[in-house]
Amino acid sequence: MILALVGGCSATKPATDRATTPSPSPSVSASTALPPTGGAASQATPAPRPPIVWKPIPFPDSRKMEMAAYAREHYRLDTFLLEHPQVIVEHFTATSSFRVAYNTFASNAPDLGQLPGTCAHFLIDADGTIYQLVPLDLMCRHTVGLNWTAIGIEMVGLSDQQILGRARQIAAATRLTLWLMQRFGIQLRNVIGHNESLTSPLHRELVPSFRCQTHADWSHADMELFRGIVARLASPYGVPLGPPARPVSGGC
Ligand SMILES: [Zn+2]
Repeated sequence: MILALVGGCSATKPATDRATTPSPSPSVSASTALPPTGGAASQATPAPRPPIVWKPIPFPDSRKMEMAAYAREHYRLDTFLLEHPQVIVEHFTATSSFRVAYNTFASNAPDLGQLPGTCAHFLIDADGTIYQLVPLDLMCRHTVGLNWTAIGIEMVGLSDQQILGRARQIAAATRLTLWLMQRFGIQLRNVIGHNESLTSPLHRELVPSFRCQTHADWSHADMELFRGIVARLASPYGVPLGPPARPVSGGC
């Protein structure tokens, strides 16, 4: 879920695969080029990559430096790079408009009093079109406590239930999730809703005032439905799902 509502827009480029192999050291000139394969378990019949439209938000060096400063403060990590992502967080935008959501992410407006602004790696429109906004080797601020290791998927909509009722949008979201799971070896238990963030064993937050912050989007009950769809999709391709979830209390 997103908060601020200001910003600009940018042009659409042809669909390309922007996932990258994580780099070991931070650099403002870090490559966003893509190797043909990498990071995922090999499959005899891989889960297909869904169509993805590359529609980047501005992510200049200044925003990368803001992301690195955020990562130092909140995670004690000296990088803006997303290395070996282990989690996929599902969100909805709390807007009915793709444009409003896109502009919010593009604006780089402070959120919770800090920069960089919120963003998501993917934004899925109500008609099921998948847009990629940010390269997969960059951290994006979408989930407090998990940005250091999580890919963010936003879906245009006002509620979990609304999106679950949109066949094309939910098909796009679950297929994208499965492809990312396969690509990066992410376990199904680490495919979570934003609202499940505080019980993730991978939640890490050093700033006390942020430690219990989460949003209401994608409840546990609705994520059980979502994960069930992903599990059914995974079966024909033999994508490993991993062990059952072991949520933690989080102390919040
Ligand atoms: Zn959210």
